[in-house]
Amino acid sequence: MTKYIFVTGGVVSSLGKGITAASLGVLMKRRGYKVSIIKMDPYINVDAGAMSPFQHGEVFVTCDGAETDLDLGHYERFIDEAIKGENSCTSGKVYSAVIQRERAGGYNGSTVQVIPHITNEIQDRIERVGKGKDIVIAEIGGTVGDIEGLPYLEAIRQFVSRVGRENILYCHVTLIPYIAASGELKTKPTQHSVNELRRIGIQPDIIVCRSQYPVGEDLREKIGLFCSVAPDAVFEATDADTIYRIPVVLHTQGFDKAVLKKLQLSSDGEPDMCDWNDFLHKYDTIKGQITVALVGKYTEIKDAYLSVNEALFHAGIANGVKVKVFPVEAEDLENGDVCEILKCADAILVPGGFGQRGVEGKIKAAKYAREKKIPYFGICLGMQVAVIEFARSVLGIKDATSVEMDEKTADPVIYLMEEQKNITDIGGTSRLGAYPCKIKEGSKAADIYGKPEIEERHRHRFEFNNKYVKEFENAGMRVAGVCPTGGQVEIMENTKHPWMIGVQFHPEFLSRPVKPHPLFKDFVAAALKIKNKYEER
Ligand code: GLN
Repeated sequence: MTKYIFVTGGVVSSLGKGITAASLGVLMKRRGYKVSIIKMDPYINVDAGAMSPFQHGEVFVTCDGAETDLDLGHYERFIDEAIKGENSCTSGKVYSAVIQRERAGGYNGSTVQVIPHITNEIQDRIERVGKGKDIVIAEIGGTVGDIEGLPYLEAIRQFVSRVGRENILYCHVTLIPYIAASGELKTKPTQHSVNELRRIGIQPDIIVCRSQYPVGEDLREKIGLFCSVAPDAVFEATDADTIYRIPVVLHTQGFDKAVLKKLQLSSDGEPDMCDWNDFLHKYDTIKGQITVALVGKYTEIKDAYLSVNEALFHAGIANGVKVKVFPVEAEDLENGDVCEILKCADAILVPGGFGQRGVEGKIKAAKYAREKKIPYFGICLGMQVAVIEFARSVLGIKDATSVEMDEKTADPVIYLMEEQKNITDIGGTSRLGAYPCKIKEGSKAADIYGKPEIEERHRHRFEFNNKYVKEFENAGMRVAGVCPTGGQVEIMENTKHPWMIGVQFHPEFLSRPVKPHPLFKDFVAAALKIKNKYEER
């Protein structure tokens, strides 16, 4: 029998519910259970594909090409299971499915309503991801009390009649605010949010308190009393120095044991956290720092390049250094003093991006990196700008451009393939999800990956124009990876530069704390090597 854990949030958003859900996933998986995880987002967008990074942070792409909420990225990094599109459920998806079925006459003339039709659709989706799994963790986005979230809460309440109360655990993650004026942690907002849950018919089994300071025994008892949970079912997750510490923090308090006990599953033994603890130990003992300039368009938004930041963090730990990410607004480079702005950078990373804004600034960053021989990592648009820059400065194609920058240009170096012209999805993205890539023998990429064929995730529309391959290669910019099915250029590397690699895919989605991505790891290593050499002088 599959067991279901529902994670809700109380008081405020951005509590780290996703991290709590992901931490639970790690602990369960490492106890040998087969775990699946699903995020339920109450917004009406069908997926996150067309959502602005300004509002929603990055779009996380799954292997099957779904454009999802960034929490899914945390799930993958923590649990290290390939998450699929079905692991992301939005009101948009739910309503579309119900309306489609209604149009197809699937409801036999009955009035289609939120209850039971929408709530049933939600429950079906939760059940579907649980096939063949021991445990499903379902995180309900938003905060208890939100109007949009109500159908989800009703659905998880009704779920009891599907699978039985003994197979369900409700975990409520809530805020215990600190009131500086009185020097106290306050439980009242938590009491209110649990009351709100109870009003809907859900009694939480476990409460996780997010707070700035440790929640003592007396507060735990108070919360237990007011919220009708045992004090030993109240856990705390105080602000941690790294999110990767949360699974361990919760485990030390007996969180996973309590969950398993409630679900009547065996809690013998301990989760195998050796490599995870090893990672934390390395983090605690890192020495030194390198600075990576991240040249983007949404640099003031903390989560806009979340997976890139995480991948750099993992790579830093693997190299024993802290990676300080220095955000650079691409547009500032367009008219500003590039050398001055980038002078503190030990390495430069240009991540993915869409549209024309800031592109010329990114091209300038690529030029600076190439000329000064500073490690440069171009991801998707970051590869495309490095290619355009090379064409302009080295090949002498003065007006080299991409179709995205200038639709009318003849023979752009970054173009739209003939067979990819009929794009129907709203984002206009033609390559989404995992594609294979064959790596050229003898290339730097071959060395870094250590294998001849890889698979990486994509989210883009434009490609390197194969017509230019020879010209680029003759001048020292080599094609190091090609898609064996479609012939698209996937990896370019500058052979006259210590580390200048551009990739058409998004390697950041595959980096894990205990399995840093080889490209990121090598990029940080290169930056460190050059920095050390420089400092020795
Ligand atoms: N805008 C470019 C394209 O569509 C790059 C996309 C990206 O960087 N994700 O090809």
